[in-house]
Amino acid sequence: MVERVSDPAGYRRWAGQVERTGHCIRPVRLVGSAMAADRTSGEVRASTGDGDGVLLVACGDRRETVCPPCAATYKRDAWHVFAAGLTGREDAGQGPRAAASASVPETVARHPAVFATLTAPSFGAVHSYRDGGVCHPVRQGGKVRRCPHGVVRSCGMRHGPRDRTLGAPLCLACTDLVSMVLWNAFVGELWRRTTIYVYRALARLASVRTGQAVTVRSVRRVLRVSYAKVAEGQRRGVVHLHVIARLDGVCPDDPDALLPPPAWADAALLGEAIREAAGVVGVPLPSPDGRMRVAEWGTQFDVRAISAGDDRRKLAGYLAKYSTKTVGAVLDDAVPRDALWDREQAGSAGGRRRHRVPPPAHLGALAATAARLAGHPACAGLRLARHASAFGYRGHVTSKSRKYSTTFAALRAVRRAWRIAHRAGTPSEGDPWAFTDDPGTVVVSSWRMVGVGHTSLGDLALAESLAREHRQARQAARVGLLE
Ligand SMILES: [Zn+2]
Ligand SMILES: [Zn+2]
Ligand SMILES: [Zn+2]
Repeated sequence: MVERVSDPAGYRRWAGQVERTGHCIRPVRLVGSAMAADRTSGEVRASTGDGDGVLLVACGDRRETVCPPCAATYKRDAWHVFAAGLTGREDAGQGPRAAASASVPETVARHPAVFATLTAPSFGAVHSYRDGGVCHPVRQGGKVRRCPHGVVRSCGMRHGPRDRTLGAPLCLACTDLVSMVLWNAFVGELWRRTTIYVYRALARLASVRTGQAVTVRSVRRVLRVSYAKVAEGQRRGVVHLHVIARLDGVCPDDPDALLPPPAWADAALLGEAIREAAGVVGVPLPSPDGRMRVAEWGTQFDVRAISAGDDRRKLAGYLAKYSTKTVGAVLDDAVPRDALWDREQAGSAGGRRRHRVPPPAHLGALAATAARLAGHPACAGLRLARHASAFGYRGHVTSKSRKYSTTFAALRAVRRAWRIAHRAGTPSEGDPWAFTDDPGTVVVSSWRMVGVGHTSLGDLALAESLAREHRQARQAARVGLLE
């Protein structure tokens, strides 16, 4: 720290870079140079200079356990993606860089929409939070029952909501770990099939409502189901999906238009269609052990209409909250502190100390099952080894259909355009990127990655304290705005 602050000019340059990375705590370090040159004359209009300097770039990791500042940025973007589909959004002050737009017409706020939670079926009894009730009471007048492994099939505890035993099976040997891994691996396909069946259900329900025979093909000509979803890793080790689904009308001349659907297509119809589709859909699973299995949704199933009175921004926040979590978060735990700075670069020796709470046994067993199945020919191509720590879940945590709202890429482009437009003064000589959107200029750059993370614990501590100050300033500004 002393070394860093002893050179005031160097410190300011470095602190400026840290700020530009959004206070990322494990920035990617690049060495190289960039310049902006006039397309016709070749005259250099801006350059980063000699190329000895290190450029810090945000790691951009979505996970809260890896980089809290980058995860916070991601969560805000996720909120915009979710909320824009329910309320619309307009990009104010785009200026000449209209290409960077993440706008969604605000008429979408009047489209019928539902909020659905789709769960996995039961794979065996687990310790559960019952709102203060007994976990698995002995049936009235019944004797204490035992499973074939001699484990008592009841639990008289009243578990708290943060109890570490929650989600653990009463008997691990009775739990079908293979089914759980395969269910996780195929939940994406199960959802895809659900979105196809929804149109069949819509056609059937539309026939009832309109009194005319409506085919799937004709329903697809007038209705589109747009959605956004997040996958939440449950403590028992399977995934739940939280989905915002919205009904749009289809314009025959402009497939990109976002129109309200016909009046007979309301939220009740959409909710009913999703419920019907989820009830019938299934995916045959591969069989590494000779058992036939089909992935289906569980019976704990919740669909409710999002009404005009609902706080749609809050609902978006509820979904965004899951976007920075990891499906295998319990295994993932916090990254050890000494992994945050580049020990090799700093030339420091010594072993790594890890202070971790061991994961619950059933989650360790699930990850081991996924790793074991990865080598089985029936599971070839499922990439289970890579996703063993997510218990076989292979998809993204956050995803959406194309027409639901804006994209993460569009939001990033808007942010970049805003940053460039609000930079003090005219484009400075040292900033080639200020010319990125200038058609008369070409930006040439060459960078080489030299490492990840800060090069000393001192830098990391300084970066973290800058991040803290930034967070406090932001909070103070927000409180000021509220007052
Ligand atoms: Zn980061
Ligand atoms: Zn229990
Ligand atoms: Zn058992």
